[in-house]
Amino acid sequence: MKKKILITGAAGFLGSHLCDRFIAEGFKVIGMDNLITGDLKNIEHLFQNENFHFYHHDVTKFVHVPGNVDYILHFASPASPIDYLKIPIQTLKVGSLGTHNLLGLAKEKNARILIASTSEVYGDPLVHPQNEEYYGNVNTIGPRGVYDEAKRFQESITMAYHRFHGLETRIARIFNTYGPRMRLNDGRVIPAFLGQALRGEDLTVFGDGSQTRSFCYVDDQVEGLFKLLMSDYSLPVNIGNPNEISILDFAEEIIKLTGTQQKIVFKPLPKDDPMQRQPDISKAKEILGWEPKITREAGLKTTFEYFKGFSKEELLKSEHKNFSKHIRK
Ligand code: UDP
Repeated sequence: MKKKILITGAAGFLGSHLCDRFIAEGFKVIGMDNLITGDLKNIEHLFQNENFHFYHHDVTKFVHVPGNVDYILHFASPASPIDYLKIPIQTLKVGSLGTHNLLGLAKEKNARILIASTSEVYGDPLVHPQNEEYYGNVNTIGPRGVYDEAKRFQESITMAYHRFHGLETRIARIFNTYGPRMRLNDGRVIPAFLGQALRGEDLTVFGDGSQTRSFCYVDDQVEGLFKLLMSDYSLPVNIGNPNEISILDFAEEIIKLTGTQQKIVFKPLPKDDPMQRQPDISKAKEILGWEPKITREAGLKTTFEYFKGFSKEELLKSEHKNFSKHIRK
């Protein structure tokens, strides 16, 4: 009998890669998505597969799945600042009500559940690099609060189900991840810069570009998540790439990679944009025997190839908008 896994956010960037991975591992995969930020294009290649089923459903409403379920991956949520600034209430609901529904389903089915948490639980961190023991520095009422606090609540309710009901739970704190199937216009820095290079626009660095990020290629991320799900560790684990770079240096790297003739222009830094972000992955190394393997150079090349496949019209439609104008201060 094949094991059955429910993946929420299945039509999203990470969710769709997870569907591919679990199909390849011989699972029966049930994908679920309300398609607010997800795109069926990401999973259309799976629709012919007899081991894949898709439910168009909003997990903030009661979730019903017939039959047994062995595993649940909860990846439904807007995850880019531009999205959760546009749909703040849905972001809060999917992290809170949605998580509650999925924990209830996991309890009912006696399934193991992994929830997608985020480096955003550390806010604008005062500890560097961030390890799992750090409690974070989050502005509850800032523009990012709707995402950060929903994810923090998600961790709390997941631990409560683990401790009170003995549910098998896993918590992944996911750091910046990139790769094919990111949305060109989701506002994230990698599709933003690659899209700008392809459209022949200047690269927009927010602030002075001294803020840092550490980018993990999606295949490495999926491998880490797979290992975490199969482990017996129920406390949060950071999954990300510790190779840190400033956004300004990163913009220069993108100019070299793409060969664009454009220059860098500076735009205002969005409110509460974290200044430094780098995962301490000692725990993942020790407990999961996992660390990222794909260099930024290799990962960016593959991602650039993916975006090069877009038509001129698609590229123009995705014209990058500086999301700081969505922020009401
Ligand atoms: N950023 C930038 N130019 C852009 C888009 C983003 O300089 O066109 C910056 C952004 O301010 C942040 C970093 O790149 O400091 C990473 O942004 P992203 O939205 O990808 O991720 P997050 O801030 O959630 O880590």
